[in-house]
Amino acid sequence: MDHQPVEPSLSTRLSPGLYIVATPIGNLGDITLRAIETLKRCDVIACEDTRVTGKLLKHHGISKPMRRYDDHASDAAREKLLAEMQSGAVALVSDAGTPLISDPGYRLVRDAREAGTEVTSLPGACAAVTGLTLSGLPNDRFLFAGFLPVKEKARADALAELAAIDATLVFYETGPRLVKSLRAMAEALPDRDVAVARELTKLHEECRTGSPDDLAEHYEAKPAKGEIVLLVGPPLEVAASSENAEQLLVEALETLKPSQAAAQVAKATGMDRKKLYVRAMELKAK
Ligand code: SAM
Repeated sequence: MDHQPVEPSLSTRLSPGLYIVATPIGNLGDITLRAIETLKRCDVIACEDTRVTGKLLKHHGISKPMRRYDDHASDAAREKLLAEMQSGAVALVSDAGTPLISDPGYRLVRDAREAGTEVTSLPGACAAVTGLTLSGLPNDRFLFAGFLPVKEKARADALAELAAIDATLVFYETGPRLVKSLRAMAEALPDRDVAVARELTKLHEECRTGSPDDLAEHYEAKPAKGEIVLLVGPPLEVAASSENAEQLLVEALETLKPSQAAAQVAKATGMDRKKLYVRAMELKAK
């Protein structure tokens, strides 16, 4: 891997453009050197809440003009920021974590790119990724689904839509809604491994795993406080059948061509024939 130096020098001006800057999700130490440099050297900081960002800046001894920005901001407010990026460096931060991830910024980035403005993204803390890595759930495939709908029917529909996806599902959640979501998961996704990752990077960080029902009972008795990432492991049958499918493929390949082996195993397991064909070709090449 090639590594770049943090930035040339403090005195160098940042080139004009939009800088998407990730900030901590709890622990103030979770900010990169490059993020701090960028906040020090930019011309303007676009943020969701000037009080929240003001505290972060104060902690690092930074004083910069701030512009309140969210995706509901008027077109005029966005136009103004886009104009500022033509001659200056505009840093975009959210209250916590990575901007745009369940946070404002999408429209600003889209418009900046359309205008041919230089856009740079500085990686850093993100609750979804932190929760995923902590949960111990499979992470080779995951789907970030943001917040579940608040209304019961919409929430059940959303879970039904996601139920068949062969990936760990990652949701953002709030304490008051956690038990309702877990109960809805017990209906739509029974027998799945679930993790509740709470207060990540903070003093009372907790990651509790179990079935949706067990976790619902636990948090009914002991309501969850603070911020939450709720994760659901992939469908068990798919995990089991994919192991099974691998074995079946190996056996089928002893006598059949990859396309025939894939078709046979797809029929036996209900798995996707094209994916099985790709795997069959890989196995044959070994
Ligand atoms: N952009 C942020 C990120 O990169 O993670 C997320 C912003 S979203 C508006 C806020 C939600 O993220 C919270 O309701 C919670 O679900 C999750 N979250 C943020 N910080 C968290 C933390 N320290 N522990 C657990 N979840 C957190």
